[in-house]
Amino acid sequence: MVALDQDAVLSRAGEPIEYVFFPHGGAISLMIDMADGQTVATAAVGREGAVGLLSVLGPSPSAATAVVHAAGTAARISASRFHAAFICSPTIRHMVQKYTGAMLVQFQLGAACNALHPVEARMARWLLQLRDRIDHDVLPLTQQGLSEILGVRRTTVTHLMRNLRARGAIRSDQRGRIEIDRSRLAAAACKCHDAMHLEVEEIFSINMPDRARWRVSGVEPGDAI
Ligand SMILES: [Zn+2]
Repeated sequence: MVALDQDAVLSRAGEPIEYVFFPHGGAISLMIDMADGQTVATAAVGREGAVGLLSVLGPSPSAATAVVHAAGTAARISASRFHAAFICSPTIRHMVQKYTGAMLVQFQLGAACNALHPVEARMARWLLQLRDRIDHDVLPLTQQGLSEILGVRRTTVTHLMRNLRARGAIRSDQRGRIEIDRSRLAAAACKCHDAMHLEVEEIFSINMPDRARWRVSGVEPGDAI
């Protein structure tokens, strides 16, 4: 078990993946660093998923930088030990396959959303995605963090925050804590959030208690795999 500290970097783009993390709480964003210094987030990961899972495909550098955007805890295993378990266990191979499918959906929907939908709707979507993973209406996010997630300037984020406050979707924004009104934020977001949430929920039963989630996968906590 390890702590996922706010703003911690779990893996860095271009560097070998050392560990696979299975979050028990908190939210992690997978960030792409462009050559010109800009960044944009491509996916959110929480207790429904894992960071570094694609290391099972073989030793290759991480494609994205994984940044903790809401602190929590995680189980951690070295990529080499996880790879050995992946080879031995049909259950683990099955789960990696399912997760990879869910991530591909998130990447594809995210690419379409980034190209087609207004940045205000995209910001509302990201806030909802992070809220889904921490189960709390107060999100530990700064405007700087949001500008890096969305790939827009800080001044754009300030403008968008003002708009969302006027709509009642954001209640307050102080000292890196953004308090949201979930239903009003959902009204401001594009439908991509619902589509992504449904995909993840169907595959992983994200809202089920831990034991029930393990049962869905056919594994009980403590089982030898
Ligand atoms: Zn969208």
